Amino acid sequence: MDKYFGKSVFGGIAVGRIRLFQKGRQEIKNIKADDPKEEIARFNDARSKAVEALQELYEKALKEAGEQSAAILQIHQIMLNDIDFTNSVEGIITNQNVTAEFAVAITRDYFYEMFSSMEDDYMKARAADVKDISERVIRILCNDESKPTDSKVPSIIVAEDLTPSETVQLDKDLVLAFVTLHGNSNSHTAILSRTMSIPAVICPDIPLDRSINGRMAVVDGFNGVIYIDPDSELVREMQHRQEKELYKRKLLLELKGKETVTIDGKSIKLYANIEDIKALTSVTENDANGIGLFRSEFIFLEKNSFPSEEEQFEIYKTAAESLSGKRVVIRTLDIGADKQAGYFKLEDEQNPAMGLRAIRICLTNKEIFKTQLRALYRASAFGQIAIMYPMITSVEEVLEIKKITNEVKKELDERGIAYNRNIEEGIMIETPAAALISDKLAKEVDFFSIGTNDLSQYTMAIDRQNSKTDRFYNPHHLAVLRMINTVVKNAHANGIRAGICGELGADLELTETFLKIGVDELSVTPSMILPLRDMIRKTDTSKTQLQYDLHI
Ligand code: PEP
Ligand code: MG
Repeated sequence: MDKYFGKSVFGGIAVGRIRLFQKGRQEIKNIKADDPKEEIARFNDARSKAVEALQELYEKALKEAGEQSAAILQIHQIMLNDIDFTNSVEGIITNQNVTAEFAVAITRDYFYEMFSSMEDDYMKARAADVKDISERVIRILCNDESKPTDSKVPSIIVAEDLTPSETVQLDKDLVLAFVTLHGNSNSHTAILSRTMSIPAVICPDIPLDRSINGRMAVVDGFNGVIYIDPDSELVREMQHRQEKELYKRKLLLELKGKETVTIDGKSIKLYANIEDIKALTSVTENDANGIGLFRSEFIFLEKNSFPSEEEQFEIYKTAAESLSGKRVVIRTLDIGADKQAGYFKLEDEQNPAMGLRAIRICLTNKEIFKTQLRALYRASAFGQIAIMYPMITSVEEVLEIKKITNEVKKELDERGIAYNRNIEEGIMIETPAAALISDKLAKEVDFFSIGTNDLSQYTMAIDRQNSKTDRFYNPHHLAVLRMINTVVKNAHANGIRAGICGELGADLELTETFLKIGVDELSVTPSMILPLRDMIRKTDTSKTQLQYDLHI
């Protein structure tokens, strides 16, 4: 039996076989091909698939973003059928007797160099296009579009890392646990594993080679330990532990329908964070007061092209209707940084977490923003939807948003389309800038929701994706707690509510502090709602001192 120690992301025990998920991207080696004819056929097959995918993307983009933005997708199709490109790949396969992916990679590099060195700006710009189309074909050839759960048997997924878009496309029923080499407990992939209630561990030491594929393993998500080839005694012990956890969970279910109030009478609302409408049942199962954060960007991450207004409308409407009148806070698109969808064509950035992401993308590309806003307003006629804007840093941004929302509402009025005219519109406080000017921002919006994941990242200058910085990361840093206190005080002074929707909201060690600060609501992963209610009902805030020097 081999034992590996890592860091727990989400508790729980899993027993099952390992499925190694390796991406094909890096594996373009100079491999000799057995049969050049077969390689040429593979190339042409991948090329046709790429053209088909581009045509689909073109049609969507045409509807969503207009002819001008969509045109590039047509150019890419033409380039894939270009005789010079295809002749080059086929020639390399035949003359050098290599695999199709290797021949495409050589052709890519050759054409890239050639276009880059041209004088004409238009031709120069084609260098990026040739790279783009070649990589699309390579991804298809390397099966890089395969998903970690292509197998039909539930398994423990072991991967170097998983992007949020890979994770969100998983069939939850086929995943027993996640084990990744990289990551951080505040990363979006970690957050997703919590929403799915799947045990997860970050374990930098686990060997990522084919030899572990298919082997039996136990993942102890509570202690962050992985056992490969466990002996029968350990399996029995872990299964016993699983039963105990189930029993604890049953006891918690007795709290359904009970009030969330402390012994000394302080009450607080408990909302759920979700990424997908598949999680709607867990919102009601865990008796949430509503949804405090619906990360709408995951609708975009699941797709290969922009979701239409109609598609988005149906999703938001379903969420509003399923919650039968309870509040559903939908956050507008927070794409960028670790949440990448290829079809946005975001350029590589030196500091993506500080780059063009979230509201900055929406204010730069108004058509994408307006499409989402139209869908949201239309859905607001079917339940209690509230809209929330991410990554705000200034009052000017809020004013610019208001200008756009007014345009959208005016358009809807002109078309006679119904929406909730009293819809609540709030912002996330997740940058130190927003926290420090929250007195001003509070005058412009209906509510605040504090995003402690990004607020911590930007306050401590600690990348939430990077496990190497863990030892410098203090989740209870006084600077962050003081900012939360300031934001709540400024909200209340201006008659608005302030909640927390970052991962810190579910930190039971801080629940009493948040109650003392006067936080109005906590929005957490659904499985944490009842444990929090349990904790709050056992707390008497009048009997203890504030643990931190918050300047209250
Ligand atoms: C946050 O930053 O705390 C937050 C809730 O948003 P996200 O985790 O999606 O960035
Ligand atoms: Mg955030």
